[in-house]
Amino acid sequence: MSGPDALHRRGLMFILSSPSGAGKTTIARRLLAEDGEIKLSVSVTTRPMRPGEVDGKDYYFVNQAEYDRMVAADEFYEWATVFGHGYGTPKAHIRAGLKAGQDFLFDIDWQGTQQLYQKDQQDVVRVFLLPPSIDELQRRLNGRGTDSAEVIKARMDRARGEISHWDGYDYVVVNDDIDVCFAKVVQILAAERMRRQRQTGLIGFVRELMR
Ligand code: ADP
Ligand code: 5GP
Repeated sequence: MSGPDALHRRGLMFILSSPSGAGKTTIARRLLAEDGEIKLSVSVTTRPMRPGEVDGKDYYFVNQAEYDRMVAADEFYEWATVFGHGYGTPKAHIRAGLKAGQDFLFDIDWQGTQQLYQKDQQDVVRVFLLPPSIDELQRRLNGRGTDSAEVIKARMDRARGEISHWDGYDYVVVNDDIDVCFAKVVQILAAERMRRQRQTGLIGFVRELMR
Protein backbone atom coordinates (compact mmCIF):
# COMPACT_ATOMS: atom_id res chain seq x y z
CA MET A 1 0.00 0.00 0.00
CA SER A 2 1.24 3.50 -0.70
CA GLY A 3 -0.14 6.99 -0.04
CA PRO A 4 -1.94 8.27 3.05
CA ASP A 5 -3.62 4.92 3.91
CA ALA A 6 -0.22 3.46 4.69
CA LEU A 7 0.73 6.21 7.13
CA HIS A 8 1.70 5.08 10.57
CA ARG A 9 -0.55 6.03 13.46
CA ARG A 10 -0.63 5.37 17.19
CA GLY A 11 -3.23 2.94 18.42
CA LEU A 12 -6.07 4.13 20.63
CA MET A 13 -7.82 2.90 23.74
CA PHE A 14 -11.52 2.75 22.92
CA ILE A 15 -13.48 2.61 26.16
CA LEU A 16 -17.09 1.43 26.25
CA SER A 17 -18.91 1.91 29.57
CA SER A 18 -22.55 1.77 30.55
CA PRO A 19 -24.75 0.86 33.47
CA SER A 20 -24.83 -2.92 33.69
CA GLY A 21 -27.38 -4.32 31.21
CA ALA A 22 -27.42 -1.34 28.82
CA GLY A 23 -25.65 -3.35 26.13
CA LYS A 24 -21.92 -2.67 26.15
CA THR A 25 -20.93 -6.34 25.94
CA THR A 26 -23.25 -6.82 22.96
CA ILE A 27 -21.79 -3.78 21.17
CA ALA A 28 -18.24 -4.76 22.12
CA ARG A 29 -18.59 -8.31 20.76
CA ARG A 30 -19.99 -7.04 17.50
CA LEU A 31 -17.23 -4.48 17.11
CA LEU A 32 -14.60 -7.16 17.70
CA ALA A 33 -16.28 -9.43 15.14
CA GLU A 34 -16.75 -6.79 12.44
CA ASP A 35 -13.73 -4.50 12.83
CA GLY A 36 -10.56 -6.20 11.68
CA GLU A 37 -8.17 -3.98 13.61
CA ILE A 38 -9.34 -3.59 17.17
CA LYS A 39 -8.47 -6.13 19.88
CA LEU A 40 -10.12 -6.60 23.27
CA SER A 41 -8.11 -5.65 26.31
CA VAL A 42 -8.93 -8.73 28.36
CA SER A 43 -9.41 -7.85 32.02
CA VAL A 44 -8.65 -9.90 35.09
CA THR A 45 -11.57 -10.53 37.46
CA THR A 46 -12.34 -12.40 40.64
CA ARG A 47 -16.02 -12.82 39.79
CA PRO A 48 -17.35 -16.28 38.89
CA MET A 49 -17.52 -17.20 35.21
CA ARG A 50 -20.95 -16.84 33.53
CA PRO A 51 -22.35 -19.47 31.18
CA GLY A 52 -20.84 -19.00 27.73
CA GLU A 53 -17.78 -17.10 28.96
CA VAL A 54 -14.31 -18.35 28.10
CA ASP A 55 -11.28 -17.94 30.37
CA GLY A 56 -8.63 -15.87 28.59
CA LYS A 57 -11.13 -14.53 26.03
CA ASP A 58 -13.83 -12.69 28.01
CA TYR A 59 -11.75 -12.34 31.18
CA TYR A 60 -8.85 -13.96 32.95
CA PHE A 61 -10.65 -15.50 35.92
CA VAL A 62 -8.46 -15.52 39.02
CA ASN A 63 -8.95 -16.07 42.74
CA GLN A 64 -8.69 -13.28 45.30
CA ALA A 65 -5.14 -14.22 46.35
CA GLU A 66 -3.82 -14.00 42.77
CA TYR A 67 -5.66 -10.70 42.24
CA ASP A 68 -4.19 -9.25 45.44
CA ARG A 69 -0.73 -10.37 44.33
CA MET A 70 -1.17 -8.60 40.96
CA VAL A 71 -2.27 -5.38 42.68
CA ALA A 72 0.73 -5.51 45.04
CA ALA A 73 3.12 -6.23 42.16
CA ASP A 74 1.77 -3.20 40.21
CA GLU A 75 0.75 -5.40 37.30
CA PHE A 76 -2.45 -3.45 36.54
CA TYR A 77 -2.83 -0.38 34.33
CA GLU A 78 -6.00 0.35 36.34
CA TRP A 79 -8.14 -1.63 38.73
CA ALA A 80 -11.39 -1.25 40.64
CA THR A 81 -13.87 -3.14 42.80
CA VAL A 82 -17.26 -3.50 41.10
CA PHE A 83 -20.19 -5.37 42.69
CA GLY A 84 -17.82 -6.71 45.33
CA HIS A 85 -15.43 -8.29 42.83
CA GLY A 86 -11.99 -7.18 41.74
CA TYR A 87 -11.45 -6.12 38.10
CA GLY A 88 -8.22 -4.92 36.52
CA THR A 89 -6.47 -4.26 33.21
CA PRO A 90 -3.14 -6.09 32.96
CA LYS A 91 -0.43 -3.70 31.76
CA ALA A 92 1.44 -6.18 29.61
CA HIS A 93 1.27 -5.50 25.87
CA ILE A 94 -0.96 -2.42 25.99
CA ARG A 95 1.72 0.25 25.87
CA ALA A 96 3.84 -1.52 23.26
CA GLY A 97 0.71 -2.30 21.23
CA LEU A 98 -0.38 1.33 21.13
CA LYS A 99 3.01 2.42 19.89
CA ALA A 100 2.87 -0.19 17.14
CA GLY A 101 -0.55 1.06 16.03
CA GLN A 102 -2.76 -1.53 17.73
CA ASP A 103 -6.22 -0.34 18.86
CA PHE A 104 -7.67 -1.79 22.06
CA LEU A 105 -11.28 -2.03 23.16
CA PHE A 106 -11.96 -1.65 26.87
CA ASP A 107 -15.18 -2.80 28.55
CA ILE A 108 -14.56 -1.12 31.90
CA ASP A 109 -16.50 0.99 34.37
CA TRP A 110 -16.24 4.73 35.10
CA GLN A 111 -13.59 4.24 37.80
CA GLY A 112 -11.25 2.45 35.40
CA THR A 113 -12.03 5.02 32.71
CA GLN A 114 -10.93 7.86 34.99
CA GLN A 115 -7.71 6.06 35.87
CA LEU A 116 -6.83 5.36 32.22
CA TYR A 117 -7.67 8.92 31.22
CA GLN A 118 -5.47 10.35 33.97
CA LYS A 119 -2.58 8.11 32.93
CA ASP A 120 -2.84 8.43 29.19
CA GLN A 121 -5.24 11.13 28.03
CA GLN A 122 -4.03 11.33 24.44
CA ASP A 123 -4.75 7.69 23.58
CA VAL A 124 -8.14 7.37 25.28
CA VAL A 125 -11.57 7.66 23.61
CA ARG A 126 -14.41 7.41 26.10
CA VAL A 127 -17.87 6.22 24.99
CA PHE A 128 -20.82 5.84 27.36
CA LEU A 129 -23.96 3.89 26.47
CA LEU A 130 -27.30 4.71 28.07
CA PRO A 131 -30.45 2.56 28.09
CA PRO A 132 -33.55 4.17 26.53
CA SER A 133 -35.35 3.87 29.91
CA ILE A 134 -34.99 2.34 33.37
CA ASP A 135 -37.80 -0.14 32.60
CA GLU A 136 -35.98 -1.31 29.50
CA LEU A 137 -32.76 -1.70 31.51
CA GLN A 138 -34.63 -3.96 33.95
CA ARG A 139 -36.09 -5.97 31.04
CA ARG A 140 -32.63 -6.47 29.53
CA LEU A 141 -31.10 -7.63 32.81
CA ASN A 142 -33.99 -10.08 33.33
CA GLY A 143 -33.85 -11.21 29.70
CA ARG A 144 -30.10 -11.87 29.73
CA GLY A 145 -30.76 -14.79 32.05
CA THR A 146 -27.25 -14.85 33.49
CA ASP A 147 -27.78 -13.36 36.96
CA SER A 148 -29.88 -14.27 40.00
CA ALA A 149 -32.79 -12.04 41.10
CA GLU A 150 -30.59 -10.78 43.94
CA VAL A 151 -27.73 -9.81 41.60
CA ILE A 152 -30.17 -8.11 39.20
CA LYS A 153 -31.61 -6.09 42.07
CA ALA A 154 -28.10 -4.99 43.10
CA ARG A 155 -27.33 -3.98 39.50
CA MET A 156 -30.58 -1.98 39.25
CA ASP A 157 -29.83 -0.28 42.56
CA ARG A 158 -26.46 0.80 41.19
CA ALA A 159 -27.74 1.86 37.78
CA ARG A 160 -28.60 5.44 38.72
CA GLY A 161 -25.21 5.93 40.34
CA GLU A 162 -23.49 4.66 37.20
CA ILE A 163 -25.62 6.82 34.91
CA SER A 164 -24.53 9.88 36.93
CA HIS A 165 -21.02 9.48 35.43
CA TRP A 166 -22.25 10.16 31.88
CA ASP A 167 -20.46 13.53 31.79
CA GLY A 168 -17.02 11.95 32.27
CA TYR A 169 -17.15 10.64 28.68
CA ASP A 170 -16.35 12.11 25.25
CA TYR A 171 -19.37 10.51 23.56
CA VAL A 172 -22.75 9.40 24.90
CA VAL A 173 -24.95 7.09 22.81
CA VAL A 174 -28.45 5.88 23.73
CA ASN A 175 -28.70 2.16 22.96
CA ASP A 176 -32.30 1.95 21.84
CA ASP A 177 -32.12 0.16 18.48
CA ILE A 178 -29.02 -2.03 18.55
CA ASP A 179 -28.15 -1.53 14.85
CA VAL A 180 -28.41 2.26 15.07
CA CYS A 181 -26.31 2.30 18.24
CA PHE A 182 -23.69 0.04 16.69
CA ALA A 183 -23.46 2.22 13.58
CA LYS A 184 -22.84 5.28 15.74
CA VAL A 185 -20.09 3.54 17.69
CA VAL A 186 -18.43 2.51 14.41
CA GLN A 187 -18.54 6.12 13.20
CA ILE A 188 -16.93 7.39 16.40
CA LEU A 189 -14.11 4.87 16.07
CA ALA A 190 -13.55 5.73 12.40
CA ALA A 191 -13.33 9.46 13.10
CA GLU A 192 -11.08 9.04 16.11
CA ARG A 193 -8.64 6.96 14.07
CA MET A 194 -8.20 9.92 11.74
CA ARG A 195 -7.27 12.44 14.42
CA ARG A 196 -4.20 14.33 13.38
CA GLN A 197 -2.19 13.68 16.53
CA ARG A 198 -2.62 9.89 16.16
CA GLN A 199 -1.32 9.94 12.60
CA THR A 200 2.34 9.92 13.50
CA GLY A 201 3.35 9.31 9.88
CA LEU A 202 1.81 12.58 8.69
CA ILE A 203 4.82 14.80 9.29
CA GLY A 204 7.03 12.90 6.88
CA PHE A 205 4.21 12.53 4.38
CA VAL A 206 3.39 16.24 4.33
CA ARG A 207 7.07 17.15 4.17
CA GLU A 208 7.35 14.97 1.08
CA LEU A 209 4.26 16.63 -0.48
CA MET A 210 5.75 20.04 0.05
CA ARG A 211 9.18 19.31 -1.34
P1 ADP B 1 -23.89 -5.03 29.56
O1 ADP B 1 -22.65 -5.62 28.98
O2 ADP B 1 -23.94 -3.54 29.42
O3 ADP B 1 -24.15 -5.47 30.99
P2 ADP B 1 -25.31 -6.74 27.65
O4 ADP B 1 -24.63 -6.44 26.36
O5 ADP B 1 -25.03 -8.05 28.31
O6 ADP B 1 -25.14 -5.53 28.70
O7 ADP B 1 -26.88 -6.59 27.34
C1 ADP B 1 -27.86 -6.95 28.32
C2 ADP B 1 -29.01 -7.68 27.61
O8 ADP B 1 -29.72 -6.76 26.77
C3 ADP B 1 -28.55 -8.82 26.72
O9 ADP B 1 -29.46 -9.89 26.82
C4 ADP B 1 -28.57 -8.20 25.30
O10 ADP B 1 -28.84 -9.17 24.32
C5 ADP B 1 -29.73 -7.22 25.41
N1 ADP B 1 -29.57 -6.02 24.57
C6 ADP B 1 -28.46 -5.28 24.37
N2 ADP B 1 -28.71 -4.23 23.56
C7 ADP B 1 -30.03 -4.28 23.23
C8 ADP B 1 -30.91 -3.47 22.42
N3 ADP B 1 -30.49 -2.37 21.78
N4 ADP B 1 -32.20 -3.83 22.34
C9 ADP B 1 -32.65 -4.93 23.00
N5 ADP B 1 -31.90 -5.76 23.78
C10 ADP B 1 -30.59 -5.44 23.89
P1 5GP C 1 -19.37 -7.80 34.37
O1 5GP C 1 -19.12 -8.56 35.64
O2 5GP C 1 -20.84 -7.57 34.13
O3 5GP C 1 -18.65 -8.38 33.17
O4 5GP C 1 -18.73 -6.35 34.58
C1 5GP C 1 -19.10 -5.57 35.67
C2 5GP C 1 -18.49 -4.20 35.55
O5 5GP C 1 -17.07 -4.24 35.67
C3 5GP C 1 -18.78 -3.53 34.19
O6 5GP C 1 -19.18 -2.19 34.45
C4 5GP C 1 -17.44 -3.60 33.48
O7 5GP C 1 -17.31 -2.54 32.56
C5 5GP C 1 -16.49 -3.45 34.64
N1 5GP C 1 -15.15 -3.96 34.32
C6 5GP C 1 -14.80 -5.06 33.61
N2 5GP C 1 -13.46 -5.17 33.51
C7 5GP C 1 -12.93 -4.10 34.17
C8 5GP C 1 -11.58 -3.65 34.40
O8 5GP C 1 -10.59 -4.24 33.99
N3 5GP C 1 -11.46 -2.51 35.11
C9 5GP C 1 -12.53 -1.80 35.56
N4 5GP C 1 -12.29 -0.68 36.23
N5 5GP C 1 -13.79 -2.19 35.37
C10 5GP C 1 -14.00 -3.33 34.68
